[in-house]
Amino acid sequence: MGEYKIAVIQGDGIGPEVTQEAVTILKAIGEKFQHNFSFEYVLAGGCAIDACGECLPKETLAACKAADSVMLGAVGGPKWDSVPNAQRPEKALLGLRSELGLFSNLRPAKIYDALADACPLKAEIVDGGLDILIVRELTGGIYFGEHGYREGKYGEEAYDVETYSEVEIKRILNNAFDVAMQRNKKLCCVDKANVLETSRLWRKVAEEMKTDYPEVALSYMYVDNAAMQLVRNPKQFDVIVTSNMFGDILSDEASMITGSIGLLPSASFGDGTFGMYEPIHGSAPDIAGQNKANPIAAILSVGMMLKYSFHLETEAAAIENAVKAVLEQGMRTPDIYSEGNILLGTREMGEAILKHI
Ligand code: NAD
Repeated sequence: MGEYKIAVIQGDGIGPEVTQEAVTILKAIGEKFQHNFSFEYVLAGGCAIDACGECLPKETLAACKAADSVMLGAVGGPKWDSVPNAQRPEKALLGLRSELGLFSNLRPAKIYDALADACPLKAEIVDGGLDILIVRELTGGIYFGEHGYREGKYGEEAYDVETYSEVEIKRILNNAFDVAMQRNKKLCCVDKANVLETSRLWRKVAEEMKTDYPEVALSYMYVDNAAMQLVRNPKQFDVIVTSNMFGDILSDEASMITGSIGLLPSASFGDGTFGMYEPIHGSAPDIAGQNKANPIAAILSVGMMLKYSFHLETEAAAIENAVKAVLEQGMRTPDIYSEGNILLGTREMGEAILKHI
């Protein structure tokens, strides 16, 4: 019997709707497997701006830091579009990542057999399903390096500097090796080592670390080739680890391969097992409050929480299998609906998944 304290940030738009379904599933898992999940609801994003005048109140940060993990719905929406940039709801995400020290972002891209039609690639390329996990460094590299303008050879020029320290590389690779150990023990480090010094340092550190993970098959691939291989032969990948910018681009490419934004979860980690879990989609203001949002990405996000933060493999598998079962029965929210299937709303989809737990 485990005790787990979870901070819940429902956020804006469809955030509260999908988060509620995820919390219900987690409670059912708790009952079935004898765990005590406690939930503390806190505000961030637009709703926090409305309630307390700031997108990431101190109380929210404190509750997240005191929790074992954080579940986040989504933040933002047109209501706050005119708010000055520094206080926009989406700034809460950056604040949470930096304050909670979340340097590693995990994004699975998975194609369920029942939804193979949604994949834009040829059927034979993804035959038998697809299950890739991208581990992206989140707080270093070119996005956080020195930026500026200066006088150059041809007049004014702009520059953005990519820097990675051994410590930063080591901690993200550690994370990636650990995750690879929990999956198929295959790790591909994606870089541009033919051109970039930082990439060569990534390779040096990876080579030093691989002896600690003798069971993991480590390989390297240049990012331009990886972008091509993801659409040519994505099944060759299991876990991909890469820098902030390359991960930003490749994880979007990989998620598009699966065909639906409403299905994909994500996780962000710092040191240790604490993590923040959220669907990759935003607050979808166009469908908010209409019982149309697909709750599966949020539900699979808590599945990732069970697996990666709490190491509850069986419980995580129970969630994944329940999702798979309802998809195989033809149950669909509007975003993944096609003729001949059963159309469900957010709540009904949540209930259908619950029945399989
Ligand atoms: P979005 O992901 O909210 O929506 C894009 C499209 O996908 C919309 O048509 C939406 O209806 C659909 N969609 C998204 N999630 C869905 C779901 N679960 N089920 C069914 N359909 C779904 O992206 P956007 O429209 O670019 O952004 C809307 C707001 O969300 C903006 O304010 C943006 O800044 C914010 N945003 C927040 C996050 C986050 O909180 N992590 C991420 C991305 C965008």
